[in-house]
Amino acid sequence: MTSIKNKIDILRKQILKYEYFYHKLDQPIVSDAEYDYLLHKLYNLELNNKEFITSDSPTQKIGSNLSNKFKKITHFYPMLSLDNTFDLKGYLDFERRIKKFFHVNVENSFCCELKIDGIAISIIYEDGKFIRAATRGDGFQGENITLNAKTIKSIPLKLTGLNIPKRLEIRGEVFMLKSDFLELNQTSTIKKNKYFSNPRNAAAGALRHIDPKITAERKLMFFCYSCCFFSETKKFTTHYEQLMQCATWGLPVNQEIKNCLNYKEVLDFYKKFEQKRHLLNFDIDGIVVKVNSIELQNKLGCNTKSPRWAIAFKFFSLERVTRLNNVIFQVGRTGVITPVACFEPVYISGVKIKKASLHNKNEIERLNLHIDDFIVICRSGDVIPKVLSVVKMRRSEHAKKIIFPVFCPVCNTNLLENKEERVIRCHAGLICDAQKKKSLYHFFSKKSLNVKGLGPKIINELVIKKFVNNPIDFFYLKSIDLIKFKTIGYKKSIEIVSSIKKCKKTTFKRFIYALGISNVGEVVSEKIANYFMTIDKLMNADVTDLNNVDGIGKIIAHNILNYFSTNSNYNMVLNLVEKIGISWSTQEMSIDKKITYFYGKKIVLTGTFESFSRTKLRTTLISLGAIILNNISQKTDFLIFGKKFGSKFFKAKLLKIKMINEEELKSLIK
Ligand code: NAD
Repeated sequence: MTSIKNKIDILRKQILKYEYFYHKLDQPIVSDAEYDYLLHKLYNLELNNKEFITSDSPTQKIGSNLSNKFKKITHFYPMLSLDNTFDLKGYLDFERRIKKFFHVNVENSFCCELKIDGIAISIIYEDGKFIRAATRGDGFQGENITLNAKTIKSIPLKLTGLNIPKRLEIRGEVFMLKSDFLELNQTSTIKKNKYFSNPRNAAAGALRHIDPKITAERKLMFFCYSCCFFSETKKFTTHYEQLMQCATWGLPVNQEIKNCLNYKEVLDFYKKFEQKRHLLNFDIDGIVVKVNSIELQNKLGCNTKSPRWAIAFKFFSLERVTRLNNVIFQVGRTGVITPVACFEPVYISGVKIKKASLHNKNEIERLNLHIDDFIVICRSGDVIPKVLSVVKMRRSEHAKKIIFPVFCPVCNTNLLENKEERVIRCHAGLICDAQKKKSLYHFFSKKSLNVKGLGPKIINELVIKKFVNNPIDFFYLKSIDLIKFKTIGYKKSIEIVSSIKKCKKTTFKRFIYALGISNVGEVVSEKIANYFMTIDKLMNADVTDLNNVDGIGKIIAHNILNYFSTNSNYNMVLNLVEKIGISWSTQEMSIDKKITYFYGKKIVLTGTFESFSRTKLRTTLISLGAIILNNISQKTDFLIFGKKFGSKFFKAKLLKIKMINEEELKSLIK
């Protein structure tokens, strides 16, 4: 029994520590999934060992954000948390509990609202005038953030309209728009300020900043979701009516509210917003379902932590906890070593995930990763798998710390760190088999010399069997050599040889891109091609020439110089052009291109398109003279957006950048 008590104590201590960082400092040190996992574990332990439940357990009281930064205010009515569920069964239990409470079936509807992911505040109005505002605090006392709340533009300082009560308490959520959050983090990065992990923490930090000027700068927003009356000027029978009244007094009430008569309607509302959540410009983490009748709400009352008449029906977190099996170190085309976490497969939004890039050495150190650790995985921006954190509580004694290698895992060459680029590289180039295979694949790939049939598998075999060592060798391959491979038949061997022959006629920018110089992607290759026009000029360029090319900075210039100063590279390029006969027209920049709508325009793409694949669209736009960029900035000319667009859409909207949808795009291309 003592060991169970110990377990409970350890869990409580851990949870209270996480609550402290989350609520008081607005800087969570673990993900919500990890916190929820531990709280759930504590609930279950306490449920089976009721004698150990104490009133100060995190299961019995709400997470407090009371700090000494602000004076305290005692709430007129306690500000509680919400009971929550993640599934229909939990929701139906909530309805069942209500029916049981009244013993008989009572006429009731439920008011469904969005659960805004921000922080709760209470505002007192007297005779319609904003008097004071407080955070939820410990539920009984909150922090006096009146001056800060007054800077939030969507909170009216004076109510308008009829029947305004003598005193009124408004409750609601302060939050930050996703687009404002992205902008804030971008300026924070430039100024090397604090970086925020999500809009909720950014909003909480801004609202509870000791300087109201900073709060004002951070563009916070507010939605009202309930009100408390002290003496009633008008009788309200439902929560819905109260919200509508708040709206007529000039308070911002989110429009997405629905009165539901049965659980099917509630579920429809839930499903609708679960699908739509990524399209909203603010974060929601579920819906809140409230008993609509004020009379029934009063009868149901509250328990220690939450009202009995409401429940948060939360969306499944896009985070999962799983076990780390291994970390592998991949060698990229340019020698960069990338650690990749391999873990027990998990499903997130219906997609099976078993690997996530760890990017670099710093990330491994930040996470303090050990083999066998339990790690929290999410899909960043709803797409790319990411390791968020480690569940340190679950680390076994024998867990082995991950150490970044000092030698290349493929060719054993000593690895070197480039602090400026923040990467660790194997500099063996084509001597390293991993780099050789990837470079050769890149050289003949679709966006480079576009040879059909030379996939990574065939290239791997050609390298292993020592048929090829560098791009030049491919031009001497015969169909008879290729048939020796199991996967290549006679017809395919002829096609490959003929495609290799054809690829000799190419464009200058494709040839530059094919060389695979570090950081020289399609856009930079095009700029270089347009600037230098001939391979001689490029091969003999110095740093000043290179810096004259728009978009080429110190790092890229250095990489290009490095590339051509290596004899083997220099000779290979020369041989490809002079001996093999790779050539291109010097008139690549045709006049036609210059008169297109897209000529010289900086364009960013987001979402998926019905009439084009991403690659097709990129090449079409580049062929029309456009410059395709990855990120939105003030300098972007257009954002072209398709379905399921991401955060770039909101950012472009914020910066008032011209947006083009697929229909408009098609007619402009025509
Ligand atoms: P909660 O956020 O789950 O729900 C209660 C809150 O919902 C209310 O206080 C209110 O502010 C808000 N809300 C939003 N829209 C609403 C609406 N329409 N009507 C009514 N209320 C609405 O509960 P909580 O107690 O504030 O916080 C607990 C949650 O916080 C946990 O489940 C966890 O996800 C997170 N947390 C994380 C950590 C961490 O370290 N990562 C630590 C503590 C808590």
